[in-house]
Amino acid sequence: MLSILLEAPSSYDRNTSMRQNRQVYNRGFNFTGGTTAFSQGNVISNLDRGVPGSGANILKHERTHLLQNRIFGPIYVGSAALWYAVAIVYSVHMWWNFNKDPAETITKVGHDDSPWEIWASQYDPPGG
Ligand SMILES: [Zn+2]
Repeated sequence: MLSILLEAPSSYDRNTSMRQNRQVYNRGFNFTGGTTAFSQGNVISNLDRGVPGSGANILKHERTHLLQNRIFGPIYVGSAALWYAVAIVYSVHMWWNFNKDPAETITKVGHDDSPWEIWASQYDPPGG
């Protein structure tokens, strides 16, 4: 396991990171198995979303999440987590009473309808 980590090529993107006050990785951590980017603090992870070279399309969107985090700090993180928690409860309700796919409901309500995401989605396409 350690040798795999040591031998893996870096996905650090020097061109979009250096002197930009952020760390951008073209691959890496995400919540969806590779189809979305993830931004936290000053780090953008999995920007390419599995398609090498496609990250430039959503860099503005993800950059907005970094700005939100810088301005609002724990309020941003806490309210986003709370928004997801409500979405999870709502998805159970929709699944139990209407047989709706919980993952789809969580994505729609927890992610797409989040005020943070709506703000960042002004810089379409949304991706993380
Ligand atoms: Zn986003």
